[in-house]
Amino acid sequence: MKRNKLGNTDIYVTPIGLGVLTIGNTQLDLPLEEGAEVVRYAYEKGINLFDTAQYYETYPYIREAFKDVDMSYDNPDRPIIASKSLDHTYEEMEAAIHECLDALGIDRIDIFKMHEVRQEPDWSDRAGAWQCLIDYKKKGIVGAIGVSTHHVDITEMMADIPECDIVFPLINYAGLGIRKGAGPGTAEEMEAAIRKCLDAGKGVFAMKAFGGGNLTGTYMKSLNYVRDLGCHSIMIGMGNKGEIDDIVRYAEGELPEDYQPETRNKKIHIDQGDCESCYACIERCPNKAIYVNDEGRADVNYDVCLTCGYCAPVCPVRAIIMW
Ligand code: SF4
Ligand code: SF4
Repeated sequence: MKRNKLGNTDIYVTPIGLGVLTIGNTQLDLPLEEGAEVVRYAYEKGINLFDTAQYYETYPYIREAFKDVDMSYDNPDRPIIASKSLDHTYEEMEAAIHECLDALGIDRIDIFKMHEVRQEPDWSDRAGAWQCLIDYKKKGIVGAIGVSTHHVDITEMMADIPECDIVFPLINYAGLGIRKGAGPGTAEEMEAAIRKCLDAGKGVFAMKAFGGGNLTGTYMKSLNYVRDLGCHSIMIGMGNKGEIDDIVRYAEGELPEDYQPETRNKKIHIDQGDCESCYACIERCPNKAIYVNDEGRADVNYDVCLTCGYCAPVCPVRAIIMW
């Protein structure tokens, strides 16, 4: 598979990356061996970029998948691991970086990001965490630093931040899940922000090309749209070998324009009998997809939900399940 230079960094990535969230406990919750096999299979098929996060709790899968692979920087074919943290302070981010390195059994990581930066004042509130990333890049422990975000405003702002190497924005042709300020943004607005980042030399990989599964019915259109924006890689959450085979064939230009794979239609469900109305999930959902229903319990707006599974871990009674 060809590789794209990730903006001004010296990192080269395949046009498709594997989002490791899917195999973890907020989504498919695969056993260690099975999940690791998915990650390993993607690597063997030529994919070299793997995105995870402290919040996903998926480091064990990655370590198991690459236990026999030379992860050193001398190996140009090493898997490129990108992780991220939701933390705010310097100390928290420092701990998150070390947790990642220890869990993966490596002493340097290619990419580490601020996870899910929201509209201001979120960026300003997390200045300590950002400074930590800057310092760890200077120390050579992190290769490149950046942010993941669903927000047009943050994506646009990152183009002007010299220390930012990588931007990982949410984009899909239908605009599902895109935020701007305190409300929704459009695909056109995010396109413009992404172009600004690309012009500024940022490495850009995109998330949610399929709108969290809502756009898999338009498989080729969804992928082509993001590819044609010029993003260096598209991060796809995949949970089995068939999905990886499809995406590799796509990246190699081997799929016909009318190709449509079998798709799984998982949805997030909130067990109304178990919900204790604490509303932690409402606070956690980055897409404002959970509301309080007439019974005072949390419920899902499926027109907005992106099946990211982020809400599930914060529920104290495990009332949120994906199936
Ligand atoms: S309701 Fe849950 S799965 Fe749906 S978008 Fe919000 S956090 Fe993600
Ligand atoms: S986090 Fe769980 S208990 Fe709290 S409102 Fe959401 S579903 Fe209900």
